[in-house]
Amino acid sequence: MADLLVVGSVALDSVETPFGKVSEVLGGAATYFSYAASFFTRVHLVGTVGQDFPEAHLKLLTTGGVDLAGLQVSQGRTFRWVGQYGYDLNEARTLDTQLNVFADFRPRLADALAEVPYLFLANIHPALQLDVLRQMRRRPKLVALDTMNFWIQGEREGLVRVLREVDVVTVNDAEARQLGGEPNLVKAARAITALGPRVVVIKRGEYGALMMTDGAFFVVPAYPLESVFDPTGAGDTFAGGFMGWLAAHDRTDAGAMRRAIVNGSVMASFTVEDFSLNRLIRLTESEITERYSGFEDLIRLSP
Ligand code: AMP
Repeated sequence: MADLLVVGSVALDSVETPFGKVSEVLGGAATYFSYAASFFTRVHLVGTVGQDFPEAHLKLLTTGGVDLAGLQVSQGRTFRWVGQYGYDLNEARTLDTQLNVFADFRPRLADALAEVPYLFLANIHPALQLDVLRQMRRRPKLVALDTMNFWIQGEREGLVRVLREVDVVTVNDAEARQLGGEPNLVKAARAITALGPRVVVIKRGEYGALMMTDGAFFVVPAYPLESVFDPTGAGDTFAGGFMGWLAAHDRTDAGAMRRAIVNGSVMASFTVEDFSLNRLIRLTESEITERYSGFEDLIRLSP
């Protein structure tokens, strides 16, 4: 079992979906990622929160097994995100983003963290992602990166620079088209590969995920759920299951990538069943195993 490091946002989210509304609940890309990954391996979180961040949230992450030694409590307010979804839950509308303590955040990796072999650069400013990558003392065995339209549009140059040095990129389909500059997803995936990553994972919400590894495609469906409540964090939970599985098995080969995206899909299918991390908090190992078998049944050719 190998260790996993994530750098990214820890947030207070306010979210409205057609099924309900929550205000200032625990969120953030690194939060969802690390909590999901902690079901598989040891995970270390690098990020920052403000002094207003509730102690109970820190306790929850620590109890879940997430190492918070790299989480800095800074002067000021925690990062906040306000989002809304319509009945098409595949698309989030961002109503407000307040970077707050993230605006001046310059992470300094402690020696032990700079040698962690699996690294996930969650969705944050590409310059910060590159800064963390440059601080690694040894080239990690696997570096994955997530990003969003905000950075693809506004910080393309910086993003392209960091992409040259990563192995895996995870984006949703609109972001893949934007980043690859191609409306066709297959062509977009190839165009992204040409920027550096050997693996491109395209998250397609209720339609599952499409992955290109060393030129070969693989698809995984999304679990057919009767009640999808809030898709916030699904992408990061997916990445947490994906990277968590790879680190746990210390594998980066093409076969491992396939198993890892099924595990990512399993974890994401739980997150969407409730607001915030609520479903993950109630989640048991046996439910994960059961849903993994559910996925195997979904794609089995002989019933
Ligand atoms: P997703 O997994 O794509 O649904 O990501 C949702 C999480 O991303 C939310 O919990 C937000 O707090 C966080 N988030 C939204 N916008 C940003 C941003 N610009 N930078 C960092 N994190 C963000």
